[in-house]
Amino acid sequence: MLVGADVVRTAGLPALGRQEQPLGEVDGGFRLAMRTLDLFRPSVGASVIGMAQAALDAAVAHASNRQAFGRPIREFQAVSHQLAEMATRLEAARALVYAAAEAYDRGDQRVARRSAMAKLFATETAQQVIDAAIQVHGAVALERGHLLEHLYREVRAPRIYEGTSEIQREIIARDLFRQAAKD
Ligand SMILES: Cc1cc2nc3c(=O)[nH]c(=O)nc-3n(C[C@H](O)[C@H](O)[C@H](O)COP(=O)(O)OP(=O)(O)OC[C@H]3O[C@@H](n4cnc5c(N)ncnc54)[C@H](O)[C@@H]3O)c2cc1C
Repeated sequence: MLVGADVVRTAGLPALGRQEQPLGEVDGGFRLAMRTLDLFRPSVGASVIGMAQAALDAAVAHASNRQAFGRPIREFQAVSHQLAEMATRLEAARALVYAAAEAYDRGDQRVARRSAMAKLFATETAQQVIDAAIQVHGAVALERGHLLEHLYREVRAPRIYEGTSEIQREIIARDLFRQAAKD
């Protein structure tokens, strides 16, 4: 069913649903779910940053070892500039994820917006970085079982779960308008 994601079956939890053991406040379920997403979205960002960092490391190593036209391919500016771009975007994504995690820990009022930005930017960036790492590798990265072939499949789902990229943009835009109405 899924593009490369490893799935596990879900199971019912018999302890849930007992009236004497509510999870959180009664009638506070939606708020609780939203607060949980504020935490999970930076976590998704952190996980894809790990994937993208692995892809960047692999690309740097490959570009240093792979020879073409008598030299390592990292000596071609078309390759080295791609690596620089990947590293820069990844660093920006990491900074947004740290900022959202710090906002969550601090109980910041704007955490929903920060978490949405972190998830949106990190997942979209990770996909770009992994795609670029494949380009630097050439055909070898497309072989089944190659690290990048695996990452290319794994990085797709995070743009969908915990709220799609479109929903993150909705959250950010709504917060912008809310803020503008206050100012
Ligand atoms: C690997 C994986 C694990 C998952 N784990 C869980 C889980 O543990 N628990 C759980 O509850 N769910 C889980 N999901 C489901 C996930 O949350 C949904 O797939 C996701 O919310 C999108 O819903 P959908 O697939 O029904 O797409 P749809 O809601 O049908 O969306 C289809 C498209 O329409 C766009 N769209 C929809 N509504 C709007 C809107 N209002 N504004 C703009 N664009 C919109 C979406 O962005 C998307 O591009 C998981 C999904 C995956 C892939």
